[in-house]
Amino acid sequence: MASTIMVVEDDPNIGALVRTYLERSGYRALWVRSGEEALAELRRHPISLVVLDVGLPGIDGLEVCRRLGGSVPVIMLTARDEEADRVAGLELGADDYVSKPFSPRELAARVKAVLRRSAATGDTADVLELGPVVLARGAREVRVDGREVELTQREFDLLEHLLRHAGQVVTRDQLLESVWGFLAPGETRTVEVHIAQLRKKLGAPALIRTVRGLGYKATA
Ligand code: CA
Repeated sequence: MASTIMVVEDDPNIGALVRTYLERSGYRALWVRSGEEALAELRRHPISLVVLDVGLPGIDGLEVCRRLGGSVPVIMLTARDEEADRVAGLELGADDYVSKPFSPRELAARVKAVLRRSAATGDTADVLELGPVVLARGAREVRVDGREVELTQREFDLLEHLLRHAGQVVTRDQLLESVWGFLAPGETRTVEVHIAQLRKKLGAPALIRTVRGLGYKATA
């Protein structure tokens, strides 16, 4: 199946051009015009790579990149001579950048290179495993000891985020940002309720540990 590339660009000419060129290069392209839309669509579709403009209305490309937290490969589109944006993007986990104006052929070549690298390192693996739990991102399927478990979309996204950061402490605020797409101090109770529900459905209580005063950690 062709990889799906998300293009986040508010300029209609550039957005249309990039989409057309990616499709000609054999990818499926999904074009959205704002950071908010991008974060929403990323929760709905398996996306292999994001081409992300820095200058967007609402939350900008750098903020989107930060919220993605390395969960999907990113190529930033930066204004010419905006070295600060390029550095910030790379520090926030972007894999590469292309400065405007750029040739669509160059962008397509970068997309191909980043996809090859990420496939090699497996950091966007479609299947995540931890102990008895196997999560298949494309099929949106979760199995525990081979038994399929029905999760809501939110529970699925929550589990995916925890598995992707297995062994690391993930704070409630980080989960709110990455899974719910907003930062709202005081809403951490929402996270706790979903974690409790997720633990119950998985039936593997030791898998998601509470790290007192900090957040959660997925461990085998
Ligand atoms: Ca723009």
